[in-house]
Amino acid sequence: THATFEDIKRIDPEVDAFLTLNEEAAKAAAAAVDAAGINADQPLAGVPVGIKDNIVTKGLKTTAASKILNNFVPVYDATVVEKLQAAGAIIAGKLNLDEFAMGSSTENSAFKTTKNAWDHTRVPGGSSGGSAAAVASGQLPMALGTDTGGSIRQPAAFNGIVGLKPTYGRVSRWGVIAFASSLDVVGSLTRTVRDAALTLNVIAGHDDKDATTAALAVPDYTAKLGASIKGMKIALPEEYLGEGVDPKVAAQVQKAADQFRALGATVDTVSLPHTKYAVPAYYIIASSEASSNLQRFDGIRYGFRAKDVKNLEDVYVRSRSEGFGPEVKRRIMLGTFSLSAGFYDAYFKKAAQVRTLIARDFEQVFANYDLIIGPTTPTPAFKIGAKVTDPLTMYMNDILTIPVNLAGLPALSVPAGLVDGLPVGLQLIGKQFDEQTLLQAADAFE
Ligand code: GLN
Repeated sequence: THATFEDIKRIDPEVDAFLTLNEEAAKAAAAAVDAAGINADQPLAGVPVGIKDNIVTKGLKTTAASKILNNFVPVYDATVVEKLQAAGAIIAGKLNLDEFAMGSSTENSAFKTTKNAWDHTRVPGGSSGGSAAAVASGQLPMALGTDTGGSIRQPAAFNGIVGLKPTYGRVSRWGVIAFASSLDVVGSLTRTVRDAALTLNVIAGHDDKDATTAALAVPDYTAKLGASIKGMKIALPEEYLGEGVDPKVAAQVQKAADQFRALGATVDTVSLPHTKYAVPAYYIIASSEASSNLQRFDGIRYGFRAKDVKNLEDVYVRSRSEGFGPEVKRRIMLGTFSLSAGFYDAYFKKAAQVRTLIARDFEQVFANYDLIIGPTTPTPAFKIGAKVTDPLTMYMNDILTIPVNLAGLPALSVPAGLVDGLPVGLQLIGKQFDEQTLLQAADAFE
């Protein structure tokens, strides 16, 4: 823990991954773990971890990278934070993100722009950009992120590390500041597949405080690491190598497919025909849910309140106008519109129907295959400033990660070599609650 804070102070001034450091409390927690001695119930004893700043931490400032929560200090811990601490992990600090996890580059943070760990002129991806950059730049071995439309996998790919988005319902969302409740999932950013498995062992499981968590036993996710993948049936969707995907990225995926064949798996081309509708459906569903979730930020209960207000209406309007950034406002307006009487059928309902078709595409492939592979992103990390003024171009960056969230499936990004000197990720997509096969295949590939 002491060495970790030295690393952070040396490296983070150039990377800007942290929003808040937890130095004193972390050192005290580490001393307590030391004093207790080795304990089999604490698989992460003494391991420093970082937490994305949209996951609440008792007594430690949590902002979701929004001005509206500037100086918000939660009075309780998220279930995942409680579980990490019970496993002996040390909370080193809180990591930067796009405001309320809305974005793909961490440029939408109200506080700072995090840099890509490989090239400080490029974005780290988003929204879990702080988590990915902190791990990839050698500040931390592990960080938690959240993935609503790709926010763990895309930054993992851009920074050359492993990002695991578990099945929807595998990990508790209690204490996660809600963006889109039917899509949000907590997962990990780590340097190795084994570390991803160890982390999932700790954070997975039913939680009485989150009714959407599944009442399923948690297997040992390290159990199949190292096992042969001979005979595994892998599908490669043609849509994932099509228009918009950098041919050099596609070539890395073909190389990965050959590597899986050499390991004894079969890899066949398949089709997920509704892929092209995923991004528009996602932006309607995610923004609709966000417009509802973000109603609680009213300037009354927590966070920022505008000064010199005239009446109650003025408190709401001015606190929200001054407290939310431009991307958050764009989504609130889009979502409110999609849900409004007269437009609901044409937008929200239609998007929900498209979501079902996308889930069915996956079901059909999984009737015959164990796993789907493809690129995590269409390109390697782009330059800071390149897309931030053009929301549609930014949204299209998530075309390969969003379908997975709409279907609630588990997926993982593992480093798959370099393109133009920058890391790219191979995405592995699994059947619901079959994280084990994902981890087994990623470990064999790694
Ligand atoms: N980039 C996507 C968005 O802006 C996904 C974000 C996420 O997964 N939190 O909504």
